[in-house]
This record gives sequence, C-alpha cells and structure tokens, in this order.
Amino acid sequence: MPSYSFRCIEGCEFDAMYSMSEVPRQTDCKVCGRAAKRTVTAPHLSATGSSAFQLVDRAARTAHEPDVVSRLPGQGRKPQRFTSNPLHAKLPRS
Ligand SMILES: [Zn+2]
Repeated sequence: MPSYSFRCIEGCEFDAMYSMSEVPRQTDCKVCGRAAKRTVTAPHLSATGSSAFQLVDRAARTAHEPDVVSRLPGQGRKPQRFTSNPLHAKLPRS
C-alpha cells in the first residue's frame, strides 16, 4: 500500500498509508488535528527502488528518448587490443 504525504495548515508534515483508490485529498492532521491537504508527490511504492522497477523504467525511457549517436556502431573504432601488458608482445604467436 503506498504512503502519501500530507501537510496541514499549521505546517505539520506527516505520511499516511492509503490504497490508491481510497486516498483522500484532505484528512485530519496527526499532530495537531487540523485540516491537512495531500501534497503532490509520487506515491512511495515499495517497488520503486527495486532493480526490476529500474529496468522497466530504463527500458521505457530509451523507447521515448533514444540516445543520439553521431556514427554507426563499430565505425571509426580502433582495433581492440586484448592486453596492454608489453611483455605479452614477446609471446609467440600462432
Ligand atoms: Zn498539524
């Protein structure tokens, strides 16, 4: 169940859990009992920090905002060396 943030007219801030279909726009402040309005934030869903959620989020973002490239992949690239150790150059080649 997501948690929503509320702020009352006295300035108290608190979070409360509601189901998405039953979350009120206004409720009583937990601190002072006065009227508190829901602040506009993303609901704190438990899945937002998970790697599965991040993967879905990243996939959706690349579909809408693909990375801009200046050349085709594989062009203008140096031939890849497998090692940078100079001693490996002395090894016999097959
Ligand atoms: Zn209050």
